[in-house]
Amino acid sequence: MDVIHLLPDSVANQIAAGEVIQRPASCLKELVENSLDAGAQHIQIILRDAGTTLLQVIDDGKGMSETDARMAFERHATSKIQQAADLFSLRTMGFRGEALASIAAVAHVELLTRRAEDEIGTRLEIAGSRVLLQEPASAPVGTSMKIKDLFFNVPARRRFLKTEATELRNLITDFYRIALVYPAVHFLLVNNDEILLDLPVQTTKQRIETIFKQKNKSIAQHLVELKAQTALVNISGFVGKPEGASKNAQQYFFVNGRYMKHPYFHKAVQTAYAGMLTADYNPSYFIYFDIAPDAIDVNIHPTKTEIKFADEQYIWQILVAAVRESLGKFHIAPSLDFNTPSDIEIPAVPRGITPVCPPEVKVNTAYNPFRSASAYRPDFSTTKGWEKLYDGTLSTAESQTVRDAEYQTSQAVDILSFSLADQPAYQYKGKYIILPSEHGLMFIDQHRAHVCVQYKYFCDQITSQRGIMQQVLFPETVDLSVEEASLLLTIIDDLRFVGFDVSQLSPNSFSIDAVPAELGTENATRALLNILHTILEEGASTAEQRVQTIALTLAEDSAIRIGKMLTDIEITDLLNRLFALPEHTFTPDGRRVFTLLADDEIERRFR
Ligand code: ADP
Ligand code: MG
Repeated sequence: MDVIHLLPDSVANQIAAGEVIQRPASCLKELVENSLDAGAQHIQIILRDAGTTLLQVIDDGKGMSETDARMAFERHATSKIQQAADLFSLRTMGFRGEALASIAAVAHVELLTRRAEDEIGTRLEIAGSRVLLQEPASAPVGTSMKIKDLFFNVPARRRFLKTEATELRNLITDFYRIALVYPAVHFLLVNNDEILLDLPVQTTKQRIETIFKQKNKSIAQHLVELKAQTALVNISGFVGKPEGASKNAQQYFFVNGRYMKHPYFHKAVQTAYAGMLTADYNPSYFIYFDIAPDAIDVNIHPTKTEIKFADEQYIWQILVAAVRESLGKFHIAPSLDFNTPSDIEIPAVPRGITPVCPPEVKVNTAYNPFRSASAYRPDFSTTKGWEKLYDGTLSTAESQTVRDAEYQTSQAVDILSFSLADQPAYQYKGKYIILPSEHGLMFIDQHRAHVCVQYKYFCDQITSQRGIMQQVLFPETVDLSVEEASLLLTIIDDLRFVGFDVSQLSPNSFSIDAVPAELGTENATRALLNILHTILEEGASTAEQRVQTIALTLAEDSAIRIGKMLTDIEITDLLNRLFALPEHTFTPDGRRVFTLLADDEIERRFR
């Protein structure tokens, strides 16, 4: 006897509901998103007992026809996409066509709706996926969805609900994530006849203030505007001044109008604030990303808030730079440009630049800090002039234009009409390289420039698995915590590829037998510990993130320092390497590598 049969729709919907509708908050989120997708300008949310007894959403959106009203409750019924390709140009909140079917499977739903073009509207009642009634009814334009007795037929789920206070808190948390994206929509939220929130049509900043103002404590006064427009992504919003930091900061990311969690970008924001905050105090931020829909993962599950981006690393850089810029513009942080005193770091012993010491074996005698990146030696005969990239983009000296041009350069370095040798470059204060260019004077931070070069070099070493090891005569022993030791064992291969040879002596004790040739033995242990601590702190979870952290830590440690005098050949070599990189506008952790003092600006000063 055959035993397989198809589940009836009502059962299938109830199973789907278990995923999509977990609590009143998820139900509210789906309904409000539908109202927004329908173009509503006013949305009222009426709750009884935090939505467990009644959850009603009334909108003035476009409404539904009689047939659509019925269709809306079928599983995979949606008006928002037609074909798979539409997934890559999504601009609506919904698209799965699952929400209403799920809600109707586990609650009693009353729908009243009318389109502007219809004279009479539709009333529909459905419970446990069964249509109880559908009839013409007079109704205002728009849609009212009344959800009664949520989970009436799923006792386990109903029991699983928390106290009214907790469910209400969840509802409000989810509601904020939507209200912060639609300041131009009026929202009213009522629970048990008490108005909890009445949000008029506002600007984003006003909306933030209305929602998060505490007693008489303004949040908006501590916010500065954030704006970055690039070919890849537009970022806007607000970030908190350091003095407004608090222990329970409000931190929000949105992408294309959707709330998201993004630990990696969160880290980017933290990086931008480095050194400005005291421990345990965090800045608030409200950051909105606008990006081509095909550059993010479209398979967005209704209950998941993590979203994958195609170019995370690049966006990280833009984000760090944009946040720093905002803080700098309002004189909160020192300006990013070339005379930032806090950037001056003069180490006692210049690291990574001493030739290899004689007693050690496997010496790379041709060692030179710039040549050390020989594994990444681009063919300059074919490299094209980086400075041509400014063509046509610098008609005004406005820094915004320069910045845009700089963003663009990092994507498109390959036109050269003259060689660097024609352009004398000078070192200034042991810190910057000054380079005359077609549109002005370029200032390049020598340390940051070399960090970029070294980063690429170490990344390539790991990918190509061929780091240059320098054996150590007297291997150093390091004792690690259990956590550090287990991490070290996970990344031991990656470390080998950059030149570390580490062997385990006892569970938590290791000996460092060889170190990357670029680093020099005296710095190796510290660099290794640095790598472990950074990964533990930043929680690099994927292998790729770990590789990036290893490469960046080593790049920082091996790059030439501020204060190091360079020969002409070294300068030329560094610039050639820098501008041959696909990424040279910002360091991998988002610090600006160069800036341009435009000719217009120089001329203006003589006027
Ligand atoms: P999705 O939003 O993923 O399309 P839903 O199950 O949430 O799926 O809704 C199904 C369909 O019902 C929507 O595509 C839309 O056409 C219609 N709909 C739902 N709510 C509303 C509303 N408030 N106003 C107008 N149409 C709506
Ligand atoms: Mg929907």
